[in-house]
Amino acid sequence: MKIILSPKMGFCFGVKKSVNLAKDTIKKRKNDVYMLGSIINNPQVIEYFKKRGAKIVNNLGEVPEESVIITRAHGISPLLLHQAYQKRLSVIDTTCPYVKKVQEIAGYLYKNGYFIVIFGDKKHPEILSVLDLIQNNALVVSSFYEIEKIKQQKKIGFISQTTKNIYDFKKLLPALLNKTEELRIFNTICKATIERQKSTLELAKKVDVMIVIGGKESANTSRLAEICKKQGVKTYHIETENQIKYEWFHPDDRIGITSGASTPNWVTNKVINKLKKEYF
Ligand code: SF4
Repeated sequence: MKIILSPKMGFCFGVKKSVNLAKDTIKKRKNDVYMLGSIINNPQVIEYFKKRGAKIVNNLGEVPEESVIITRAHGISPLLLHQAYQKRLSVIDTTCPYVKKVQEIAGYLYKNGYFIVIFGDKKHPEILSVLDLIQNNALVVSSFYEIEKIKQQKKIGFISQTTKNIYDFKKLLPALLNKTEELRIFNTICKATIERQKSTLELAKKVDVMIVIGGKESANTSRLAEICKKQGVKTYHIETENQIKYEWFHPDDRIGITSGASTPNWVTNKVINKLKKEYF
C-alpha cells in the first residue's frame, strides 16, 4: 500500500487564529472562560480546551456576569453580542475574517434592496449569524430545485456559506439568471476551502481509497468527503485513528489522505502512524 497526502489540508488561517486566541485566553483567565458552542467543529480540539478548564455553554444564560466568553470562528449574531455586553462579559470574538466578509456583503445587499439567496446549510452557525444580521431577509438554498421555486425578482444578490462546495455553487448560477434581470454574485467561499477542495479532488482521481479526517459536524470536512464520493472513489470520513477498519483496504491500494480546515495535525498524524504501523 502507498499513502499519498493532500498538499492542502489541516488547520486553515481562520481556525489557527481562533484556536490561538482561545489558548491565550485560557492561560490568562483559567477557570473563568466560557465558549459559546464549539469554537470550531472538531471534538478532539474541544476536549483539549475542556481539559484546560474551558466550559462549553449553549446560551448566555449559563454564563456568570463579568466572565470571559469566546465566540465561534463561524461568527456570532449581533443580538447575542449585544446580550453579552449587557451582561458585562469580556467578549473574545474569534469570528474568521472570511465570515465577517459574508456578513458585510449580506448587509450591503439587504440595505440595497436585493432579494438575497444564500447557498448554505440552514442550521449552520455561520448562516444563523448572517440571517440574524439581515433580520431573516434571505432564502437559504442547498439545491437547484429550491432555486426553481423562486418567483421572478427585480434584482438578486447571491452569496455562499464560506465552506460550501465551489463546484456546486457555480452550477446554480444559470438557474438564478432565469429569475431576474440583475444578478450580483459574490463568491464568498473562502480561499482555504477552495484550495482544500481542489487538492482533494486531484488526489481522489489518483487513489483507490480516500480517508477524510475531521469532525462529523464539520461542514468543510463533510464537503471534502462528498467531493471524493462524487469522484467515485471509496471514501471514509473518520474523526480518529480508532475508526479505521482493516477490511477497507487491499494490499495494492493507494490511499489518499486529506483533512478538514478544523482538524489538527496531531489527529491526522495518529491516523497516518496507525496505517503505517498496522497495514504496511
Ligand atoms: S474554513 Fe475559511 S471561513 Fe472557515 S475558519 Fe477557515 S478560513 Fe475561515
